[in-house]
Amino acid sequence: MTALAIVSVHDCETVNPTIHRDANSLRERLSSSRDASDSSEIAFVPTMGYLHEGHATLIRRAAELAPRVVVSVFVNPLQFGPNEDFDRYPRDLDRDVRVAGEAGATDIFVPAAADLTPSGLRVTVDPGPLADSLCGRSRPGHFRGVATIVLKLFNLVRPDVAVFGWKDAQQLVIIRRMVEDLNIPVRIEGVETIREPDGLAMSSRNVYLSPEERCQAPAIQQGLQRAAALFQSGERCAERLEAEARHHIEQNTAARIDYVQAVPLSTLQPAEKLQPGNTLIAAAAFFGTTRLIDNVRL
Ligand code: AMP
Repeated sequence: MTALAIVSVHDCETVNPTIHRDANSLRERLSSSRDASDSSEIAFVPTMGYLHEGHATLIRRAAELAPRVVVSVFVNPLQFGPNEDFDRYPRDLDRDVRVAGEAGATDIFVPAAADLTPSGLRVTVDPGPLADSLCGRSRPGHFRGVATIVLKLFNLVRPDVAVFGWKDAQQLVIIRRMVEDLNIPVRIEGVETIREPDGLAMSSRNVYLSPEERCQAPAIQQGLQRAAALFQSGERCAERLEAEARHHIEQNTAARIDYVQAVPLSTLQPAEKLQPGNTLIAAAAFFGTTRLIDNVRL
């Protein structure tokens, strides 16, 4: 007798996601699916759109965690400073819908600015001391904007699990802390940074880079890897680790370094000596006007 190969339809299926432009439509759809099945968990991936393989990896991870996968696409004005790139941030919703659907999104939430940032918004989330260092120091108010909008999105989507990338390590640490400190009923899942073949961390902002800047940009990760190698060889002094990464970036790029900092992952506050299992070395650098970030965890 011939054995039948049983192939799950799910394995090769591209889901056609439903697009929700307002919070009511999303809420109705999600509450009807919650009513239909108590076990219908929701995984959520918040993004600012212009999706790349890094985002797609988060969405695929979300699809492994729950049958319903909500992806939000919202360029959050609260997390941009007055002289930052909010207006020119790249946007391509048609492509985002395709990429998200292929990765397994069932619903795409594209909120109107008025839904998430009404002019009367008065109450915001203070992310506390975790936001004082690294990107928070050079982008005052950035993490308040992130935490406020992520909390609003959590309240609208009410996910069981939310997926974030380690590419934005400080953001992930702050969101985890917010969830714990404010008793928000959601699990936070972290996904490792997805990179181009030459090591550059994928980012929606990479499209801004000139060909020359694009050639130099992998030096950020290379510098961090050199600091990581020094750490692995026993060096625990934050200043020396930072100097190693900084030197490599300075020697190999024309970038203006915003910061290179080695800190305990648990506090993100400056410390002289670092410990294995609790170390983050993070860097931000401007290539022209394009600010890129990257990090290693040790
Ligand atoms: P963004 O659209 O830049 O706000 O990013 C949305 C989510 O995707 C955040 O959780 C990011 O950390 C994550 N992400 C962005 N780029 C990458 C990447 N290269 N690898 C992994 N996650 C990423």
